[in-house]
Amino acid sequence: MAVTLTPEAGALRRQDPEMAEILLGELARQSTTLQLIAAENFTSPAVLAALGSPLANKYAEGYPGARYHGGCEIVDVAERLAVERARALFGAEHANVQSHSGSSAVLAAYAALLRPGDTVLALGLSHGGHLTHGSPANFSGRWFDFVGYGVEAESGLIDHQQVRALARSHRPKAIVCGSISYPRHIDYAFFREVADEVGAYLIADAAHPIGLVAGKAAPSPVPHADIVCATTHKVLRGPRGGMILCGSELAERVDRAVFPFTQGGAQMHTIAAKAVAFGEAATEGFAAYARQVVANARALADGLAAEGLVVTTGGTDTHLVTADPSPLGVDGRTARGLLAAAGMILDTCVLPHGDARGLRLGTAAVTTQGMGEKEMARIAALFASVLRDAANVRKAREEVRELTGGFPPYPGR
Ligand SMILES: *Cc1c(COP(=O)(O)O)cnc(C)c1O
Repeated sequence: MAVTLTPEAGALRRQDPEMAEILLGELARQSTTLQLIAAENFTSPAVLAALGSPLANKYAEGYPGARYHGGCEIVDVAERLAVERARALFGAEHANVQSHSGSSAVLAAYAALLRPGDTVLALGLSHGGHLTHGSPANFSGRWFDFVGYGVEAESGLIDHQQVRALARSHRPKAIVCGSISYPRHIDYAFFREVADEVGAYLIADAAHPIGLVAGKAAPSPVPHADIVCATTHKVLRGPRGGMILCGSELAERVDRAVFPFTQGGAQMHTIAAKAVAFGEAATEGFAAYARQVVANARALADGLAAEGLVVTTGGTDTHLVTADPSPLGVDGRTARGLLAAAGMILDTCVLPHGDARGLRLGTAAVTTQGMGEKEMARIAALFASVLRDAANVRKAREEVRELTGGFPPYPGR
């Protein structure tokens, strides 16, 4: 297959054909199946070029102008550019672009504001909270005293009354808003009001919607939260990594919480790639992309509902759709397996009523490929055919191959 992503890929093929085969195999997998995992996307060739650049060789502990290593003059320019672009893109007074991942960004936010043993109020894990929101298997659940709010069983919407009541009775040091599966906009002004009432910090974990915020297709947490944590690789379409936004008054605490408290040397190739992604996200083209991501998610939600799946909250405001396939006679885990066999790759998730798993899917990647509402309707129909009768898997796999063939993620490669 004549596939090359960067000039360096040629060197890899000559030196280590075994690994080159694996990389090409993964590219082929991504190109011939539908990436419906809500947290995934396709970065641009420019972002990939920055990631695969000699900046990967540079050690740069510290911050621009104040490094522990010599020779940082040039990477300092790269990091300053990333910070300036992030601040401008999100209207934030301060940005830290060094977090290695979304989880590291949340760890740093807690380190900046909390002491071990403090009480934190966050969306419960069985209602769509992330591992870093108090899972006993994660540092957060071990080091802090988490109290979970939930979504209403009937509507699937955040139970705002419960948030207020729990905040009043537990007096948390911080409130976290953000989710791995909530398909609706989060009312940041409401959370700010509750946080102010009980004297808590507000941390918005906007790992998922931050790309929509960049494209002005979702409300921004920046004016409301003390600290905004985010990833750069979900809808935002940058390299795998994290980012923190805050006001000037917390800038120093946040920076110290990232380095030296929770991380070592900055990954300059990733920071350069983040800068490239922020540059892309500031364009009108990206805003159009973000709007299409939401339009596609709505079309997909409508299509799935028309086929008989129960769509959580009855629809979506974002890139994310969660749905219960059980009316079609399959549980979430079985459904994920059948869909994967047909080339439709997605996750399961918790459902609001809590006792069964549903499906979680997103439209960020397929929209990057250029698919629109028409293709979403086709995907919904393929879903239903496979879930109604496993005998349709083979035919659906062929249709997915044909569909993806028309929308290569890296055209001409
Ligand atoms: C994805 C996500 C994270 C973690 O990001 P990683 O880069 O995987 O560590 C944290 N919080 C929320 C809400 C997320 O959706």
